[in-house]
Amino acid sequence: MNFVETRGNDGIKPVEASFSHAILNPSASFGGLYVPKYLPMLEENFIKNHINKSYKELAYNILKAFEIDIEEEEINKALSLYDNFDDASNPCPVVRVKDDLFVHEQYHGPTRAFKDMALQPFGSILSSIAKKRDEHYLILAATSGDTGPAALNTFKNKENIQVACLYPEGGTSDVQKLQMVCEDGDNLKVIGIHGNFDDAQTALKNLLSSQSFKDELEKDGIKLSAANSVNFGRIIFQIIYHFWSYIQLLKQNEIADGEKIYLVVPSGNFGNVLGAFYAQEMGLPIEKLLVASNENNILTEWINTGIYDIRDKELKLTNSPAMDILKSSNIERIIYSLYGEKRTKEFFDDLNDKKIFVMTEEETKKLQEYFSAVNSDDKYGAKIIKEFLDDGYLMDPHTATCLKAYETLKEKALKTVIYSTAEWTKFSPTVLNALNENNISYSDKEALEIISKEYNAKLPKSIKELFSSKINHDLIINKEDIETQIVNFIKGS
Ligand SMILES: *Cc1c(COP(=O)(O)O)cnc(C)c1O
Repeated sequence: MNFVETRGNDGIKPVEASFSHAILNPSASFGGLYVPKYLPMLEENFIKNHINKSYKELAYNILKAFEIDIEEEEINKALSLYDNFDDASNPCPVVRVKDDLFVHEQYHGPTRAFKDMALQPFGSILSSIAKKRDEHYLILAATSGDTGPAALNTFKNKENIQVACLYPEGGTSDVQKLQMVCEDGDNLKVIGIHGNFDDAQTALKNLLSSQSFKDELEKDGIKLSAANSVNFGRIIFQIIYHFWSYIQLLKQNEIADGEKIYLVVPSGNFGNVLGAFYAQEMGLPIEKLLVASNENNILTEWINTGIYDIRDKELKLTNSPAMDILKSSNIERIIYSLYGEKRTKEFFDDLNDKKIFVMTEEETKKLQEYFSAVNSDDKYGAKIIKEFLDDGYLMDPHTATCLKAYETLKEKALKTVIYSTAEWTKFSPTVLNALNENNISYSDKEALEIISKEYNAKLPKSIKELFSSKINHDLIINKEDIETQIVNFIKGS
């Protein structure tokens, strides 16, 4: 299957691109994104036929339906990375927490957050395509916490790929930082920046537009690619697990085949819920997608009003940092699916020029046929974390935002799956504050020890080991020095 561009074609880039082209060169004409030309319809009884199949078989058959230009052997190699999850046969378990409410736990991979679900296989695929083409790629990443560890973990020691990862010194949790600075691999460079996440991201953007930097890369025959969720190579792996949600409920006899369910997705860049939207378009019986946000309520506003307005908005730092966002990239793919390329280009030109776009009433209604949204604050999240632990279930602050949607947005009494995007171990001080109803500033190490002891919660080995691991990256620099450091890195000095 071929891929097309959300904002139309500029006459220079190919009008249609293969999957491998789209994932190696994820930016499309006019700043748009690549999307599949159409979504495959799955065969009749596809869902029922997968009740007794493994996650890998399900994944393989969905990838096959997309007819991507990746050899079978490479696909299988990529999918075998789910073997590194806690339970290879069930990498993302769906568990009942009460009544009609289920949690889909997406954090059982190596870095204990949902980014592993897609980045693990994606890293393998990207490296295999680069190798086959005999090309070398540099992946640049700026991270506020979860993407960095997952990207470094998946690309370490992968052939034909190098990764330079920028993080704001002091702007991530201790666990997230250790996951990055302890990662070992000759092809990885991890750099702390004096400044906040915005500074790291701006520095990265400046680098991408620096001619001297591009010249240096070209001299060494290195191309740039991206591993953020604008890359369809990540999105494709984020369609699969929504089918898994449904199949698990069927298997547990909680629903009948064809019965509709709600999915609640804690959202930032909208990649996770975009995967659910695609799954629905491919035939998954979803009543509605419920989008949860934190105090950065831009997505809630957009879905409820049809207006995306960031003119007077400032980013707030919350206890669910992976959802702190103003510009959410993957809404573009939804907009393209619902209103076509002409409208997509108009909206995003407006967003660039005027920091606002406004949909018609009719367009807004159409959006609301698929999505409902609500946001909540940290205080609400703390209350939920405590309430659920009293009932024996420990959840992280991102997951907690979902409960607001569960409580307020459902219009029918249908089974509901909320997505748990991180393990509590990644945000343990916030969780401990919620449980103790205090504001003491615990270190991650203290909070992990206290919670695991007092609540008998299991600490995975990968988290425990972090605090005694060797630090392989101790560079902390000013923004001005980033270019030199990365050039030195790709030159191997
Ligand atoms: C990335 C992330 C999210 C947001 O997912 P999107 O696909 O960007 O909407 C939510 N929670 C956690 C823990 C994450 O790492």
